[in-house]
Amino acid sequence: MSHVIPSHVRLTASLGDITRSTLDVIVNAANESLLGGGGVDGAIHRAAGPELLEVCRKLQGCPTGQAKLTPGFRLKAKFVIHTVGPVWHGGANDEPALLASCYRESLRLAAEHGCRSIAFPAISCGVYGYPAELAVPLAVFTVRDALPHFPGIEHVEFVCFDAAMFSAYQRALAT
Ligand code: ADP
Repeated sequence: MSHVIPSHVRLTASLGDITRSTLDVIVNAANESLLGGGGVDGAIHRAAGPELLEVCRKLQGCPTGQAKLTPGFRLKAKFVIHTVGPVWHGGANDEPALLASCYRESLRLAAEHGCRSIAFPAISCGVYGYPAELAVPLAVFTVRDALPHFPGIEHVEFVCFDAAMFSAYQRALAT
Protein backbone atom coordinates (compact mmCIF):
# COMPACT_ATOMS: atom_id res chain seq x y z
CA MET A 1 0.00 0.00 0.00
CA SER A 2 1.39 3.40 -0.85
CA HIS A 3 0.65 6.74 0.73
CA VAL A 4 1.24 10.13 -0.76
CA ILE A 5 3.23 11.82 1.99
CA PRO A 6 4.64 15.26 1.23
CA SER A 7 8.41 14.95 0.81
CA HIS A 8 9.22 17.28 3.70
CA VAL A 9 7.69 14.88 6.24
CA ARG A 10 10.05 12.74 8.27
CA LEU A 11 8.98 9.52 9.98
CA THR A 12 11.67 8.25 12.32
CA ALA A 13 12.19 5.77 15.14
CA SER A 14 14.42 6.43 18.13
CA LEU A 15 15.46 4.54 21.22
CA GLY A 16 14.99 6.37 24.50
CA ASP A 17 12.77 8.03 27.05
CA ILE A 18 9.91 10.02 25.51
CA THR A 19 9.90 12.44 28.45
CA ARG A 20 13.23 13.79 27.15
CA SER A 21 11.82 14.56 23.71
CA THR A 22 12.30 18.07 22.35
CA LEU A 23 9.54 17.74 19.77
CA ASP A 24 6.49 20.04 19.98
CA VAL A 25 4.20 17.44 21.53
CA ILE A 26 4.58 14.04 23.12
CA VAL A 27 1.81 11.47 23.24
CA ASN A 28 0.95 9.70 26.46
CA ALA A 29 -0.42 6.14 26.47
CA ALA A 30 -2.89 6.93 29.23
CA ASN A 31 -5.81 5.07 30.76
CA GLU A 32 -9.45 6.19 30.65
CA SER A 33 -9.24 7.97 34.00
CA LEU A 34 -6.40 10.25 32.80
CA LEU A 35 -5.28 10.27 36.43
CA GLY A 36 -1.89 8.72 35.83
CA GLY A 37 -0.66 5.16 35.91
CA GLY A 38 2.45 3.08 35.35
CA GLY A 39 4.73 2.80 32.34
CA VAL A 40 5.05 5.78 30.07
CA ASP A 41 2.08 7.50 31.77
CA GLY A 42 3.82 7.51 35.15
CA ALA A 43 7.08 8.69 33.60
CA ILE A 44 5.33 11.60 31.84
CA HIS A 45 3.51 12.69 35.00
CA ARG A 46 6.74 12.56 37.02
CA ALA A 47 8.64 14.58 34.44
CA ALA A 48 5.88 17.13 33.79
CA GLY A 49 5.24 17.77 37.49
CA PRO A 50 2.08 17.85 39.62
CA GLU A 51 0.40 20.55 37.53
CA LEU A 52 -0.23 17.91 34.88
CA LEU A 53 -2.39 15.82 37.21
CA GLU A 54 -4.29 18.94 38.24
CA VAL A 55 -5.34 19.74 34.66
CA CYS A 56 -5.98 16.07 33.87
CA ARG A 57 -8.49 15.92 36.74
CA LYS A 58 -10.56 18.59 35.00
CA LEU A 59 -10.71 16.60 31.74
CA GLN A 60 -13.12 14.00 33.19
CA GLY A 61 -11.36 11.06 31.61
CA CYS A 62 -11.08 10.00 27.99
CA PRO A 63 -12.73 7.11 26.12
CA THR A 64 -10.57 4.43 24.50
CA GLY A 65 -9.49 5.48 21.00
CA GLN A 66 -9.87 9.21 21.77
CA ALA A 67 -7.32 11.85 22.78
CA LYS A 68 -7.13 15.01 24.89
CA LEU A 69 -4.44 17.69 25.00
CA THR A 70 -2.81 19.44 27.95
CA PRO A 71 0.20 21.71 28.36
CA GLY A 72 3.55 19.98 28.87
CA PHE A 73 4.42 21.96 32.02
CA ARG A 74 8.01 21.02 33.01
CA LEU A 75 8.60 18.94 29.88
CA LYS A 76 10.51 20.33 26.91
CA ALA A 77 7.50 19.44 24.77
CA LYS A 78 4.94 22.24 24.70
CA PHE A 79 1.99 19.84 24.91
CA VAL A 80 1.06 16.33 25.98
CA ILE A 81 -1.63 14.48 24.08
CA HIS A 82 -3.21 11.83 26.28
CA THR A 83 -4.68 9.00 24.28
CA VAL A 84 -6.17 5.76 25.54
CA GLY A 85 -5.15 2.66 23.66
CA PRO A 86 -7.23 -0.53 23.70
CA VAL A 87 -6.48 -3.35 26.11
CA TRP A 88 -5.62 -6.41 24.02
CA HIS A 89 -8.35 -9.05 24.38
CA GLY A 90 -7.30 -11.26 21.48
CA GLY A 91 -7.90 -8.87 18.59
CA ALA A 92 -11.59 -9.45 17.83
CA ASN A 93 -12.82 -6.64 20.08
CA ASP A 94 -12.13 -3.70 17.80
CA GLU A 95 -8.56 -3.38 19.03
CA PRO A 96 -7.05 -2.49 15.60
CA ALA A 97 -9.67 0.20 14.87
CA LEU A 98 -9.29 1.67 18.36
CA LEU A 99 -5.49 1.71 18.17
CA ALA A 100 -5.58 3.34 14.72
CA SER A 101 -7.98 5.93 16.10
CA CYS A 102 -5.48 6.82 18.86
CA TYR A 103 -2.84 7.67 16.25
CA ARG A 104 -5.26 9.60 14.02
CA GLU A 105 -6.88 11.57 16.84
CA SER A 106 -3.46 12.46 18.26
CA LEU A 107 -2.27 13.75 14.88
CA ARG A 108 -5.49 15.72 14.48
CA LEU A 109 -5.12 17.40 17.89
CA ALA A 110 -1.44 18.11 17.28
CA ALA A 111 -2.24 19.75 13.94
CA GLU A 112 -5.09 21.76 15.46
CA HIS A 113 -2.64 23.19 17.99
CA GLY A 114 -0.06 24.14 15.39
CA CYS A 115 2.45 21.42 16.26
CA ARG A 116 4.99 20.57 13.60
CA SER A 117 6.56 17.59 15.35
CA ILE A 118 5.11 14.79 17.47
CA ALA A 119 6.58 11.88 19.41
CA PHE A 120 4.59 8.69 19.95
CA PRO A 121 5.29 5.83 22.37
CA ALA A 122 4.23 2.31 21.40
CA ILE A 123 0.63 2.80 22.52
CA SER A 124 -0.96 -0.31 24.12
CA CYS A 125 2.26 -2.35 23.80
CA GLY A 126 3.05 -2.36 27.53
CA VAL A 127 0.63 -3.44 30.24
CA TYR A 128 -2.27 -3.28 27.76
CA GLY A 129 -0.71 -6.28 26.02
CA TYR A 130 -1.12 -5.43 22.32
CA PRO A 131 1.40 -7.61 20.43
CA ALA A 132 4.15 -5.38 19.05
CA GLU A 133 4.34 -7.37 15.80
CA LEU A 134 0.77 -6.22 15.10
CA ALA A 135 0.78 -2.79 16.73
CA VAL A 136 3.95 -1.47 15.09
CA PRO A 137 2.95 -1.96 11.42
CA LEU A 138 -0.52 -0.64 12.26
CA ALA A 139 0.99 2.48 13.85
CA VAL A 140 3.23 3.15 10.85
CA PHE A 141 0.46 2.45 8.32
CA THR A 142 -2.05 4.65 10.15
CA VAL A 143 0.33 7.59 10.52
CA ARG A 144 1.40 7.39 6.88
CA ASP A 145 -2.23 7.18 5.83
CA ALA A 146 -3.32 10.16 7.96
CA LEU A 147 -0.41 12.54 7.39
CA PRO A 148 -1.60 13.93 4.05
CA HIS A 149 -4.59 15.37 5.98
CA PHE A 150 -2.26 17.27 8.32
CA PRO A 151 0.19 19.18 6.13
CA GLY A 152 1.53 21.23 9.08
CA ILE A 153 3.13 18.15 10.64
CA GLU A 154 6.71 17.72 9.46
CA HIS A 155 8.18 15.11 11.78
CA VAL A 156 6.69 12.07 13.48
CA GLU A 157 8.96 10.12 15.79
CA PHE A 158 8.22 6.71 17.28
CA VAL A 159 10.10 6.63 20.57
CA CYS A 160 10.99 3.10 21.64
CA PHE A 161 11.90 2.12 25.16
CA ASP A 162 13.80 -1.05 24.26
CA ALA A 163 15.91 -2.39 21.43
CA ALA A 164 13.36 -4.97 20.23
CA MET A 165 10.72 -2.29 19.76
CA PHE A 166 13.25 -0.06 18.02
CA SER A 167 14.10 -2.83 15.51
CA ALA A 168 10.40 -3.49 14.92
CA TYR A 169 9.83 0.18 14.04
CA GLN A 170 12.94 0.32 11.87
CA ARG A 171 11.65 -2.68 9.94
CA ALA A 172 8.16 -1.21 9.55
CA LEU A 173 9.52 2.16 8.45
CA ALA A 174 11.76 0.51 5.87
CA THR A 175 8.85 -1.15 4.06
P1 ADP B 1 -0.07 0.78 27.66
O1 ADP B 1 -0.86 0.78 28.94
O2 ADP B 1 -0.74 1.62 26.57
O3 ADP B 1 0.32 -0.58 27.21
P2 ADP B 1 2.61 1.28 28.76
O4 ADP B 1 3.10 2.56 29.34
O5 ADP B 1 2.49 0.12 29.68
O6 ADP B 1 1.23 1.65 28.02
O7 ADP B 1 3.57 0.85 27.56
C1 ADP B 1 3.54 1.44 26.28
C2 ADP B 1 4.94 1.42 25.69
O8 ADP B 1 5.68 2.50 26.24
C3 ADP B 1 5.74 0.16 26.00
O9 ADP B 1 6.43 -0.23 24.81
C4 ADP B 1 6.74 0.63 27.06
O10 ADP B 1 7.96 -0.10 27.01
C5 ADP B 1 6.97 2.05 26.61
N1 ADP B 1 7.50 2.99 27.61
C6 ADP B 1 7.48 2.93 28.96
N2 ADP B 1 8.09 4.01 29.49
C7 ADP B 1 8.50 4.77 28.45
C8 ADP B 1 9.21 6.01 28.32
N3 ADP B 1 9.62 6.71 29.39
N4 ADP B 1 9.48 6.48 27.06
C9 ADP B 1 9.06 5.82 25.96
N5 ADP B 1 8.39 4.65 26.00
C10 ADP B 1 8.12 4.14 27.23
